Amino acid sequence: MSQINVTFPDGNVKAFENGVSVQEVAASISTSLAKKAVAGKFNDKMVDVRQNLVEDGAIEIITKDSAEGLEVLWQTAAFVLSEVLAAKYPDMNFGEARVDEHGFHLDTEKPEQTQVAETEFDDLAADMQKIIKADEKIELDHVSENEALQLVGNDPYQKELVSELAVDGQVAIYRQGDFVQLAYAPVLGSTGKAKIFKLLSVAGAYWKGASSNPMLQRIYGTAFYKQKELDAELERRKEAHERDHRVIGNQLDLFFVDPKVGAGLPYWMPNGATIRRTLERYIIDKELAAGYQHVITPILANVDLYKQSGHWDHYREDMFPPMDMGDGEFLELRPMNCPSHIQVYNHHKRSYRELPLRIAELGMMHRYEKSGALTGLSRVREMTLNDGHTFVAPDQIEDEFKKILDLMIDVYNDFDIHDYRFRLSYRDPENKEKYFDDDEMWDKSQQMLKSAMDDMGLDYFEAEGEAAFYGPKLDVQTKTALGGEETLSTIQLDFLLPERFDLKYAGADGEDHRPVMIHRGVISTMERFTAYLTEMYKGAFPTWLAPHQVSVIPVKNELHLERAKELQKRLLAHHIRVDIDDRNEKMGYKIRQAQVNKIPYTLVIGDQEVADHTVTVRKYGQQETETISFDEFVTELNHDIETYSRK
Ligand code: ATP
Ligand code: ZN
Repeated sequence: MSQINVTFPDGNVKAFENGVSVQEVAASISTSLAKKAVAGKFNDKMVDVRQNLVEDGAIEIITKDSAEGLEVLWQTAAFVLSEVLAAKYPDMNFGEARVDEHGFHLDTEKPEQTQVAETEFDDLAADMQKIIKADEKIELDHVSENEALQLVGNDPYQKELVSELAVDGQVAIYRQGDFVQLAYAPVLGSTGKAKIFKLLSVAGAYWKGASSNPMLQRIYGTAFYKQKELDAELERRKEAHERDHRVIGNQLDLFFVDPKVGAGLPYWMPNGATIRRTLERYIIDKELAAGYQHVITPILANVDLYKQSGHWDHYREDMFPPMDMGDGEFLELRPMNCPSHIQVYNHHKRSYRELPLRIAELGMMHRYEKSGALTGLSRVREMTLNDGHTFVAPDQIEDEFKKILDLMIDVYNDFDIHDYRFRLSYRDPENKEKYFDDDEMWDKSQQMLKSAMDDMGLDYFEAEGEAAFYGPKLDVQTKTALGGEETLSTIQLDFLLPERFDLKYAGADGEDHRPVMIHRGVISTMERFTAYLTEMYKGAFPTWLAPHQVSVIPVKNELHLERAKELQKRLLAHHIRVDIDDRNEKMGYKIRQAQVNKIPYTLVIGDQEVADHTVTVRKYGQQETETISFDEFVTELNHDIETYSRK
């Protein structure tokens, strides 16, 4: 029999009989490693420990205390779940079982449009535990493509998967008794180790992620080798759920998205719209003070504009298809505002005296994000960006870059945002399709960004392949409640669009010169920023942003409502968002409701308060109250608002 050469992570190469299993390779190193091995990584691909190796390659033994080792456990739990479901619902169709960062998910389709309900989870889990207790063996087998097709019967998804998974006409399968499943990824040799698991939720998921395909039902779960790890994960999920802007958005009636009307197209309800409008006023005022000129430009433009800008060539995947107007004109929903601001720049002849020229807009744009990526308000298809483009002379780049960063940091302080890091986003030089091809331009602008950051003494990390098609970026990466990271603010250098649109300014020498463009977004899109703030504040918005700032509660309507109305009127005159809770409910209930709705101030008005011209104030989240004069209260409230205080 021939031999194969296996390379270990430390560079050592060892010869084995052709057909040696991963388990045997592990055993050749040590018996303890053989015991701990749950899978292998052979030539960067995860393989079952029982897999026979038939070619040269690099191996890594996967043990259970690694991230990949956990994935093997998750695949095993998903396997047991499908076994239980297949027994309970013989007509069920199955998509793939896959893992993500936090657990596994299994796609299913029940005939007759009925669905697996979360209320069934206890029963399903009990059935799973039976199989797990028995520590049933899971066999790895290889069959021909034809045999595999017979094994999966009429299941259309499994049939498709058979041809995808087939290698040289062979398909790997797992068997446990009569139950057979395609081997998507390695599982453990027996079911016993998967006992610490939890079924979590169900949600719809399109087959293969394409909205033109049928919607399957995705069952989510997770599993761990140790109980305390599962407990920690459930705690993390609970916290994330409580912060999730979609959950809070629902509780506080901020917004909704109805896929039937349009996925990724949010509707802002009055409470959400109030927050958004406040953010918009805030940032416009900040920018006016920083020397920006705000404009309003159309969201539609002739497709030729985007051909000239390069969006058509480099960004088309993310754009909505053009609208054929029938008379030879094609209109495009803009995916970015840059070409619009270039039109503003070009509308007048520009002189060096006007530079840096700062054009800003709350620009609405549309991007055809993949349906699977859409998330509440944080990733949408229609969004309004706090956009701005500064046109500078080349020797002003660094200074302007620093000014923008200063503005960002100032804004972040107002919102009390401190958990972020800077990313320098470069092009991927291999990707000629996405990135404009001009090595010199890229080297120059990437270098410029880096040295500006070094100059300012700011820490950053670098990422290839994250740049815009026209130039490198400085991205501000913030943490989301769900533990991920997303870009909030961005500053981008651009030498390309000024060329493409032949931008000019008259220099002091009387000659024409080419300006450089700096694209920047400070508070991101209204959508993403609102999502971010909702999660960061856990729905308890600071007073200046809260949709309802004050709730006035008369102790008895017949005695105190009139005074409550008078106070409301006076607060409204101060532009305070104030409501009176005059429902026929107990006072304790109304106070609790104000807390549930996270209203910053609750005022209780009874006999004493009417007689003394005072109010009894309770701040959100506090037990104690304070009785002060109404004027004092207004002063405190205004101070709170003016200082963006979070108390
Ligand atoms: P991402 O990497 O998040 O897709 P991008 O690099 O395509 O964003 P830019 O073109 O720089 O983004 O857009 C400016 C800002 O708009 C981003 O930094 C981000 O904060 C926000 N943004 C981008 N896409 C979306 C979206 N689909 N929904 C909400 N906000 C978005
Ligand atoms: Zn731009």
